Amino acid sequence: MKTNNRGKLFVMSGPSGTGKGTICSELIKRVDIYLSISNTTREKGENEEEGVNYFYVSRDEFERMIRDGEMLEYAQYNGNYYGTNKKRVEEALDAGRDVLLEIEPQGALQVKNIIDDAVLIFVLPPSMDELRKRLVERGREAIEVIEKRIAASEWEIQQSDKYDYKVINDNLEECVNEVIGIVNKERM
Ligand code: 5GP
Repeated sequence: MKTNNRGKLFVMSGPSGTGKGTICSELIKRVDIYLSISNTTREKGENEEEGVNYFYVSRDEFERMIRDGEMLEYAQYNGNYYGTNKKRVEEALDAGRDVLLEIEPQGALQVKNIIDDAVLIFVLPPSMDELRKRLVERGREAIEVIEKRIAASEWEIQQSDKYDYKVINDNLEECVNEVIGIVNKERM
């Protein structure tokens, strides 16, 4: 395997509602980086598309992919599986492309164990009150689901100390610029 001109792997995590999805979509517009599309067993959201937001698979299919070693990492979140396809990521890295994963911390830490020069970036909300407000305002889920996401975010934020970088998404544009700065610095 070529190591010299291999791409670099960037992993972004942050509690649900913190805006990491928006940051990732801005990032891929502004820097040349390949966004890995995950597999999930959760239901497709109203404004989501197969192969754009996720590949939506059954639990049986997901468990088959785990058994067959097709996952670089995977985790359960809110009762559903989420995981990264190993082959697509490895192929992009081997082709010299930088790769971006938008995944939660259990998976991010698995990735760091396998690929130790992966760069882990954690996006923090300005406050828990602001996080709750954003989740309610985006109106994507029922309040019970929102409460579960908030409960999960407490553990997630504790994991942020294990990340290479932490950024606060108070102002989107500033936060995106900060992340671009990290990517450019790590590429050097
Ligand atoms: P959502 O249901 O909001 O799309 O995603 C829930 C959580 O799962 C988010 O924190 C998201 O970053 C994370 N996630 C998405 N894809 C993956 C993946 O492939 N692996 C892991 N470990 N987490 C993922």
